[in-house]
Amino acid sequence: MKVIATKRELRAALDAERTAGRTVGFFPTMGSLHDGHAQGIARASSENDVGVTSIFVNPTQFGPNEDLASYPRTLDADLALSERSGASYVFTPTVEEMYTDDAFSIDVGPIGMVLCGVTRPWHFNGVATVVAKLWNIVGPCRSYFGEKDYQQLTVLKRLAAAFDVPVEVIGTPIVREPDGLAMSSRNAYLSGPERTAALCLKAALDAAADAVATGERAGNRVAAVMAETVQSEVLARLDYAACVDPVTLQPLERIEGDARLAVAAWVGAARLIDNSAVTA
Ligand code: AMP
Repeated sequence: MKVIATKRELRAALDAERTAGRTVGFFPTMGSLHDGHAQGIARASSENDVGVTSIFVNPTQFGPNEDLASYPRTLDADLALSERSGASYVFTPTVEEMYTDDAFSIDVGPIGMVLCGVTRPWHFNGVATVVAKLWNIVGPCRSYFGEKDYQQLTVLKRLAAAFDVPVEVIGTPIVREPDGLAMSSRNAYLSGPERTAALCLKAALDAAADAVATGERAGNRVAAVMAETVQSEVLARLDYAACVDPVTLQPLERIEGDARLAVAAWVGAARLIDNSAVTA
């Protein structure tokens, strides 16, 4: 496994791989890697000849009062996990290496203003900007993103299509702790009681899925089941609970076919998100 910190070297290495006829799989991350990342890196590495991951805490996707400075950074362990998961290359640029001209950024429009975008209106523009840059550096590839960040995956699929980027965007399943909590680097912020309280997100999704399974079709009532489950947990503060169209992310009046359930809440210092698919 090669660790590369400059754009020029990574581009040259991956151009040489493709010239030799090898396909590239790419799984970008912000580090502090856990098993959710490991499975994404393993997928990108096993479905392609060459697996690439990046470790870059992207400042442009954080808001002014968010956890950029305190975001967990565990580079040595991350490199070991990347190697165990089959990566051939890890890209570890500095902020100065990545950003040379902050006059330009990508505006993803209305899809970045719903769900997480209501409280984090800058976030998806920052994600789109850094991922577009990474795609240009990595070059043609299959690019994998976790369904854990479902809105991110949706925005990036749209971005790749809208800008004719030569990548295939592929979603990977949510990896959970044995008790159901979705793995997240931000789970490290949780105290013991908060860790227990954080289970309310998955419980909310399960309660809503049960409601759909027993015949509820009204999107707002399904969302209310989720909201009530989170609100019954005193250590959690609800951000949103929504039942949306899986492509447009707009609220569904009625569930007829596929829908996505999505929930976000603050538990202590951590803002946690989770989602699941339902079909009626
Ligand atoms: P992050 O480091 O949080 O920016 O995440 C990097 C990639 O890992 C993104 O595509 C995430 O969606 C994905 N990811 C993070 N947590 C999980 C998880 N629990 N299950 C599946 N994918 C995940």
